[in-house]
Amino acid sequence: MGIWSAPVNYISTRGAAPRLGFEDVLLTGLARDGGLYVPDAWPSLPADAPAALAGLSYADLTARVLEPFAGPTLGPAVLGDLTRKAYAPFHHAAVAPLGQIDRNLWLLELFHGPTLAFKDYALQLLGGLFDHVLAKRGERLTIVGATSGDTGSAAIEAVRGRDNIDIFMLHPHGRVSDVQRRQMTTVDAANVFNIAIDGTFDDCQDIVKALFGDLGFRDRVHLSAVNSINFARIAGQIAYYVAAATALGGGTGRPVTFAVPTGNFGNVFAAHVARAMGLPVGRLIIGSNANDILHRFFKSGAMETRAVVPTLSPSMDIQISSNFERLLFDLLDRDGAALTQVMADFRAAGTFAVSPAQHDRATTLFASHRLDDAGTLAEIARVHGDTGRLIDPHTAVAVAAARALGDPAAGPVVALASAHPAKFPDAVKQATGVHPDLPPWLADLHERPEHATPLPADAGAVRTFILAHAALTRSAA
Ligand SMILES: *Cc1c(COP(=O)(O)O)cnc(C)c1O
Repeated sequence: MGIWSAPVNYISTRGAAPRLGFEDVLLTGLARDGGLYVPDAWPSLPADAPAALAGLSYADLTARVLEPFAGPTLGPAVLGDLTRKAYAPFHHAAVAPLGQIDRNLWLLELFHGPTLAFKDYALQLLGGLFDHVLAKRGERLTIVGATSGDTGSAAIEAVRGRDNIDIFMLHPHGRVSDVQRRQMTTVDAANVFNIAIDGTFDDCQDIVKALFGDLGFRDRVHLSAVNSINFARIAGQIAYYVAAATALGGGTGRPVTFAVPTGNFGNVFAAHVARAMGLPVGRLIIGSNANDILHRFFKSGAMETRAVVPTLSPSMDIQISSNFERLLFDLLDRDGAALTQVMADFRAAGTFAVSPAQHDRATTLFASHRLDDAGTLAEIARVHGDTGRLIDPHTAVAVAAARALGDPAAGPVVALASAHPAKFPDAVKQATGVHPDLPPWLADLHERPEHATPLPADAGAVRTFILAHAALTRSAA
């Protein structure tokens, strides 16, 4: 493949944090001014990219795509080594295969990783990147997170058994699905600590926020997060768009339409980046469930929070899409001061609006579709009836959005299958009458012993537990 433009540096969307290279962005996560890091310029795919990438393995393709984001300190050899290690444990030779479900309508299967959801694609890579950079610097990290589902298990799988990372994952006791809880608590590794909080998911999140706000504690344990505001996670999600567009569009330049089931706007933002790099991608379709803050924004130009309602697609049950700030930064012509003002207004009033011109730009780039639970069940049943395939509720939101807004006559339409149906067996059974089986290598999940520590919904109790168990502090405690 031809030569990339120079490696990027990273700037904060709020314009008041230091410019950083990739390794510091990886370890820092959220910028010190409260903003999100973004590349200072989008790299351009070399002109011969479609042909040059077509024959590569998924791991090698990912390494090539990461070069301008991770360089110059992480070169092609290191990236190739890390991506091969990240994707070797995946349970499909193609890693992110395509399957056809209708005329020019495709599923991009992103559930072949260890926890059966797309978050594995970036997090498996992130685990290796953390390990590499920490070893090089002789440093350790303590990761603390709160989860209501997919992120927790994917993060635990990504760092289990690694020498220089401890992970403490909080989940609300009794309020996580059986499969999702067991995917976390059955991991038996000395650096993994599951904490079952006697409270709600919001309590868990408040505790994590309190710990991050305790600067003395934060420095003592080298606290870090792996949520999707880390740009390295976005970078790790670009490759499957490139792989799918390369496979379906080939060198023809025929634009591919992607429909993405969207919560925090991380996954669809990675598609936006791929398009900004020159990948032939048309308007991106956002699939929302009844928590439709993004759908309402693309309709009206106003972002307005509402209470979260539980749905059949819980990984999209969000009030605010944290990664949307990255798109807003571009809509505001990368004016960090203006963005800071908008976010302050949003925090104060629970609402903000963009100008008509900015709204026009947003709707040129993205379209959106909303699907309620009844529609979700109907789409699961339709795909099963048409093809014999079982899809999960998040995937159903994407497929319905693809049917509503994609044009199969104009080019391939690809719906992202973001989770395996066996992760959400109740909804799938309700829609089709068929119970989706776990893959054979996970079939004994319900027999494996669980490891979790119950704690009250109290930040002090969690802090004491972490200090006693994190490798950085436990000998001193
Ligand atoms: C996290 C998740 C989503 C939402 O992705 P975002 O990047 O937050 O928009 C959709 N589907 C599944 C299965 C998920 O785990």
